[in-house]
Amino acid sequence: MLDELKKEVLDANLALVKHGVVLFTWGNVSARDKETGLVVIKPSGVPYETMKAQQMVITDIDGNIVEGELSPSTDLPTHLEIYKADDSVRGVAHTHSTYATAFAQAGRSIPCYGTTHADYFYGAIPCARALTEQEVNGKYEENTGKVIRETFVGKSFESMPGALVKNHGVFSWGKSADNAVHNAVVIEEAAKMAIFSEILNPKLEQVPQYLLDKHYLRKHGKNAYYGQKK
Ligand SMILES: [Zn+2]
Repeated sequence: MLDELKKEVLDANLALVKHGVVLFTWGNVSARDKETGLVVIKPSGVPYETMKAQQMVITDIDGNIVEGELSPSTDLPTHLEIYKADDSVRGVAHTHSTYATAFAQAGRSIPCYGTTHADYFYGAIPCARALTEQEVNGKYEENTGKVIRETFVGKSFESMPGALVKNHGVFSWGKSADNAVHNAVVIEEAAKMAIFSEILNPKLEQVPQYLLDKHYLRKHGKNAYYGQKK
């Protein structure tokens, strides 16, 4: 079942490697089926070179396996928390991409210093707090999702399709598995640009609100006009 979505999830996982945001088996991507609400995720620890669409694992929103021979990615509970938080999320990606993870390890949000960032993220990409010892020793992956949700209280998962988790890495999401990967790649690029911008000008400030509004809102929302008219 969900053969098309399995292929999409496989391709999205391979795209993480192609775009250089994942080494070995460190990343993972999932997608949620619109009709059934079931989640398709990559299996745990299978090398990307030999991974097949049929090895993708299908679970329900509580992580019960519906179809699949292999164990799902260990980060599944984090993905599920993000799906539960917002119905609009159809795909989730996770990476330890270098520049963005440098911000996560430093416990810093990625400031918005330019239009590349502002085209995709409506402000600084937030860094969720570190997990407590109890949270790490308890349901670790689920708690990772919970600290992301905590960071997004009063914030939109749609206008901020990604977050860092302190001492860990990047989670991104979007309208599909492919879109979540796209956002993971943009987060890495925005982080890289931010690091170099701060080196060149340590007193740098974030872009002014009017520039952020212009760039984000011309691509998103009801008055968007970027691209071709549909
Ligand atoms: Zn991780």
